Amino acid sequence: MAIIELRNIYKKYGKTVAADIPQLEIKDKEFFGLLGPSGSGKTTTLRIIAGLETPDRGRVFIDGQDITDLPPEKRNLGMVFQSWALFPHLTAYENIAFGLRLRKLPEEEIRRRVRWAAEFLRIEELLNRYPHQMSGGQQQRVAVARAIVIQPRALLFDEPLSNLDAKLRERVRFELRKIQKELGITSVYVTHDQAEAFAICDRIAVMNEGRIHQIGTPEEIYNKPEDRFVASFIGITYFIVGKISEYVNKKEGVALITTEDGLDIQAYADPNKVSRGDSVHIVIRPDYISLAKPTDKVNVFKAKIERATYGGDSIDYEIKVGKWSLRFRTPATLKLPPRDEIKIKLDEKRLVVIP
Ligand code: ADP
Repeated sequence: MAIIELRNIYKKYGKTVAADIPQLEIKDKEFFGLLGPSGSGKTTTLRIIAGLETPDRGRVFIDGQDITDLPPEKRNLGMVFQSWALFPHLTAYENIAFGLRLRKLPEEEIRRRVRWAAEFLRIEELLNRYPHQMSGGQQQRVAVARAIVIQPRALLFDEPLSNLDAKLRERVRFELRKIQKELGITSVYVTHDQAEAFAICDRIAVMNEGRIHQIGTPEEIYNKPEDRFVASFIGITYFIVGKISEYVNKKEGVALITTEDGLDIQAYADPNKVSRGDSVHIVIRPDYISLAKPTDKVNVFKAKIERATYGGDSIDYEIKVGKWSLRFRTPATLKLPPRDEIKIKLDEKRLVVIP
């Protein structure tokens, strides 16, 4: 079992605040993602957990035990880096065995554990090969085997797939998640790639400039962004600006927003955060927009097609609704000519406003 907790963590490099995290709890067995643009403090946070970086302030706990002053090798955490950092002059077997030798385990025990890890990752036939005799994907597995073989309390991943080509990266995502769930081991995963974080992680912290902007499941992060940074960093996002005219249903948070150019749009607005008369941004994504059906009554608007782009399985349209540029998609079988005027529906169940 391993609950990882950060309390009042603060780390500065010169004038740059690399991490400023008042409170973070990563649950037992959870696959937890640190997601954000380059320089947002993900790696610093991970390295603080690993003990490779000392925070200026704050404490790190595992299962309630304060580990802030423990050196990395005493924390018993398995790490997989971007570069995998395999020793080029050692075989896969010796690479995997390395941490066990450091721990001075008996040879028999080392053999047993390396076998177990190799079997788990299905790399038994690679054990005698050197890193240069393996593909990127195979080296990556060896790196994961090396991390799990020490039976760590938790696993830490820092962009472990960025050296793989796009296709392999996608396949390995699912494998990593499967391995993590089978081992049931608390894991922290750093990435700047939203699709990767969504595919792999149970919960995600979205970071920028050293701070966590939002923590949630991929679905919560995507559909209920809490601020403008999260809304624009995740997915394809357009904003419509308006004022809250009234709450249509306050209990459910359905508000009517009147835009600067006089459109009335219904969207979800949290009554605890915004009230009547407040200026808000409505978050609109391509998948919140569809062609209006004759039976649709709410949030139906005229739109003009500005551009259509063929995307294989779908067509991507740039449209203008009032003065607002938006995008939406249709299946490739349905082709709407440019300059056509169409009627679209904005899904009021998914539109959400941020202050
Ligand atoms: P991320 O992993 O999200 O790309 P980092 O945690 O690596 O971000 O970096 C956060 C910020 O701290 C960045 O502005 C980076 O330039 C700075 N930083 C990180 N490590 C160092 C260091 N060793 N010395 C100086 N600045 C650093």
